[in-house]
Amino acid sequence: MRDGVAGTIGNTPLIALPKLSAAIGRTILGKAEFLNPGGSVKDRAARGIIDDFERRGLLAPGGTIVEGTAGNTGIGLTVVANGRGYRTVIVVPDDQAPEKYALLRTLGADLRIVAAVPFADPANYYHQARALAESMPGAVWANQFENLANRDAHEATTGPEIYDQAGGALDAFVTSAGTGGTIGGVSRALKARDASIRTVLADPYGSALYSYVKHGTLDVEGDSNAEGIGIKRIVANFSGAPVDDALRVDDRAMVEMAHWLTHHEGLFVGGSAALNVVGAARFARMLPEGARVATILCDGGDRYRSRLYDAAWLAEKELTPSATDLSFL
Ligand code: PMP
Repeated sequence: MRDGVAGTIGNTPLIALPKLSAAIGRTILGKAEFLNPGGSVKDRAARGIIDDFERRGLLAPGGTIVEGTAGNTGIGLTVVANGRGYRTVIVVPDDQAPEKYALLRTLGADLRIVAAVPFADPANYYHQARALAESMPGAVWANQFENLANRDAHEATTGPEIYDQAGGALDAFVTSAGTGGTIGGVSRALKARDASIRTVLADPYGSALYSYVKHGTLDVEGDSNAEGIGIKRIVANFSGAPVDDALRVDDRAMVEMAHWLTHHEGLFVGGSAALNVVGAARFARMLPEGARVATILCDGGDRYRSRLYDAAWLAEKELTPSATDLSFL
């Protein structure tokens, strides 16, 4: 039995991807985070952040949680908040998939869609969320980027689950980062159990994290349509993550993999999940045959049907998938 909807977060299956693994001669394991009640890996961070506020006595019944988010954290926070009697105010930039806005409205979040402007602009969604929380008496700001309850949730749950479900036999863990909570927490948990497990960032273009891991600099090259991942600054949840290596994945490979996974593995996932699988497969191929590499299937494809899975959108972005095999890897 589970205690409320928050009790159903986590303990997701670790899925061996049979066709991909057979094709590359290494086992790729995907953590099925799209099966969480809010549909994404961010449910874990949301529960961890709310649990922490409650422990510290910062949330009274009927209290309000404010957050700036690409969408998934807002969805996770609202799911948990609804179950526990809190309200959410969710600030989202206007360049995200419309399905996420619709879901937030349906869940009852007080949704504020703001212009997508760089972090340096005071109108950036992050600063607007902080200002809103400060202006509302008794409200708390989740602050997923700097609040280490995010990383702690992954260190306590996602990481140990992956290690145990892999039977302790894992050569590498590869994933992308938005706040870095997932990669930071999972990497810490895995390294604590087996220091030989390689931890690797898969980064989209338009993010500075690849150059940070590789060279210690914050250089940005190109751009990406990936949602929820890639960042141009170092935040607390990413800082200090024990990451050994990084690779960059472009949108073409992300889109080809998303459609390949749908048609060949029966896995209908979002762009970041597809990008992660590309990164995991490419890194696995640098390891000896038989290697085992885990990654995160962050969310499902349903919330990207008007983009990643829409023929007109793909054509407009010149990203129409064409692969019949895995040659794009
Ligand atoms: N994928 C998606 C779709 C997301 O929304 C997020 C969170 N922004 C991530 C991946 C990255 O997770 P994290 O914040 O733990 O780095």
